[in-house]
Amino acid sequence: MLTDLDSPEQGEPVAAGPVGLAAVFEPRRVALVGASDQPGKMGELFWRNLSSFPGEVIPVTASAATVDGRPAYPTLSDVDGEIDLAVVVVPAPAVPGVLRDAAAKGVRAAVVISGGFAETGPEGARLQDEMIAAAHDGGVRVVGPNCFGIQNCDLPLNASMAAGEPLGGGGITLATQSGAYGMAIYALGLDERTRFAKVYAAGNKADIADAEVLRYLRADPASRTLCFFLESLPDGRAFYEEARLTTPHKPVIVAKTGRSAAGARAALSHTGALAGRGAVGRAAFAQAGIIEARTGLEMMDVARALDAQPPPAGPRVAVITNSGGTGVELADLLAEEGLEVPELSAALQRELRACLPAFASARNPVDMTPVWTRFAELYPMLVERLARSGEVDAVVPVLLQRSAVDEQVAIGVRDAVARLRADGVPVPVYVCWVAPRAARPNADLLAEAGVPCFDWPERSARALGHAARYGRARFEVRPPRPAPPRPAGLPLLAPGVLDPGAGGALLGAFDIPTVESVICETADGAAAAAVGLGFPVVAKALHPELVHKSDRGGVRVGLVDHGDVQAAASELLDLAPGGRVLVQRQASGIEVVVGGIRDPQFGPAVMVGLGGVLVEVLGDVAFALAPLRADEARRLVERLQGFAALTGARGREAVDLDALARVVCAVGDLLVAVPEVAELDLNPVLATAAGCVAVDWRVMVSGT
Ligand code: ADP
Ligand code: MG
Repeated sequence: MLTDLDSPEQGEPVAAGPVGLAAVFEPRRVALVGASDQPGKMGELFWRNLSSFPGEVIPVTASAATVDGRPAYPTLSDVDGEIDLAVVVVPAPAVPGVLRDAAAKGVRAAVVISGGFAETGPEGARLQDEMIAAAHDGGVRVVGPNCFGIQNCDLPLNASMAAGEPLGGGGITLATQSGAYGMAIYALGLDERTRFAKVYAAGNKADIADAEVLRYLRADPASRTLCFFLESLPDGRAFYEEARLTTPHKPVIVAKTGRSAAGARAALSHTGALAGRGAVGRAAFAQAGIIEARTGLEMMDVARALDAQPPPAGPRVAVITNSGGTGVELADLLAEEGLEVPELSAALQRELRACLPAFASARNPVDMTPVWTRFAELYPMLVERLARSGEVDAVVPVLLQRSAVDEQVAIGVRDAVARLRADGVPVPVYVCWVAPRAARPNADLLAEAGVPCFDWPERSARALGHAARYGRARFEVRPPRPAPPRPAGLPLLAPGVLDPGAGGALLGAFDIPTVESVICETADGAAAAAVGLGFPVVAKALHPELVHKSDRGGVRVGLVDHGDVQAAASELLDLAPGGRVLVQRQASGIEVVVGGIRDPQFGPAVMVGLGGVLVEVLGDVAFALAPLRADEARRLVERLQGFAALTGARGREAVDLDALARVVCAVGDLLVAVPEVAELDLNPVLATAAGCVAVDWRVMVSGT
């Protein structure tokens, strides 16, 4: 019988009320465990912060009969009726008991603020395990422990240490692992008039992983711009997969601390050596369209840029200034972000000049000169005219000193932007703010209207660079290609390095071309094999201990006859006693490296680069997670600094880029489909107009 498992009528009984993160953010009834009305206590701070919640908040405490005049319950089990969310602020040793009560009572979720768990050592880790086990027995989901809490600013629900009633009405959701820094980012955001949708402090992430938070927020219409401040990302692969589905619809901005220490690992291959220092994680973020901010501050800047206005549709920026120096510094920094400050068309320049003072420049940066009496008229006029010109993708008025202090300028720019938004003009306006502190109210006025003001050209250029990259990425990120199956009949591979024959056969099963090769035991055998292959040939010493053969004189190219091969082969056998000789047809082409590794956090990943034996010196490589789509593999190759070498630079023939992209995809497929392969290097693949062929390959199989 066919059943539709998705249909609510036929599936499992639907639980009444919210579950999972919906119970965290949209509870109907909340219990505060550890509630108090004694000033200075955590339970009192939370009681006060929860007072703006429109639903019922139940005080639970064994130390008082009432809290703030409300009857208190000694335990969760004593409470009448259903509880969706328990906010827990009691000391750590009491928390497992609280969660046992919560599980018995059918509470859906708990936010555990209390510290004293895994962050303190093995004893705390044990307590944390005990708490999670108790929660899971009753299906209670847990935020934290050791966190500063959560907010749903629109409800409002303030179950966090941040005092006051959340403002609501904003689209930025902040998920932060670090409590104190997260609070600081949040407070700075509020200072700069940023409106949040939700705030989520992950703390020790004992239960709910980042990927689950991302999945929930993807479906949350109130969260338009997602910020993750991360210290660790153990579920990197799952996060990547969720992000890929999210970024076409809303921006995901990640600031990840600890980048420098990440990924130090023993190098078994070129790919492994080059994958250190977080290269795979950064590549995964880029591939998923995630905006990677270097700092918490940068994360908030780009969030503010993207939340209230459309992202730039292209790289062209108009700069409006009353100071040549600031405009030029900004233009330089924008260029470093890959953006342009293009000269405006002659017609537009003519039109602008007609309104500008005599010594002004209408080229771009548009410099009105310090005609301060006309700032309030010129700034809004130029913002609107340039945004509607069709010649630029973003407009940056530099509000400098006197123009920043003048409230009429701020009001004029604000109203001009409002008219642009009302007319659906898809060109964002970000203010570059170079102003004395006294002008701050004007920045607030703009920020409240969704026009972010970024301090100085550097912060402005960075935010705009990220916004423009997101503007492109949201169209480039497509659903992933399904992973291919393991080739039929392929037995489990034995641990160790595959010999060239077995390695070549495995590559062949994924249509990865390898040059014709013969493994020979003797010099005579090598010479005979060469005749069969056709001259010229290459002979290589083959020995398990010889990893980089040419470093030790183990590769002889350009062998043109029988005698040549015989002599070379006997020298190679002497070089590595007990070894063998590999004879290959001599191919030609540009040397490209294609490799694959299995990253502990992000799973199967591929690398492509230029360089052959010099690959590690040049370091011109790019990574991506597998499986890849053909268009992703193409873009990966295009990202190489030396990409021009592949497209016919200096009279060379352009290589078949599709064939190269196919090899890159196939290496990724191999890693996905054959999980015991730990690492592999094709170095080099020789690429020509007629296709690609690997002439050196090394496949490492992990022990089980
Ligand atoms: P290793 O990387 O262990 O030093 P390789 O087999 O990659 O040894 O050979 C070193 C270099 O020799 C390659 O980078 C390439 O320039 C050249 N080479 C090796 N095999 C061939 C071949 N079959 N055809 C043309 N050139 C080759
Ligand atoms: Mg090599």
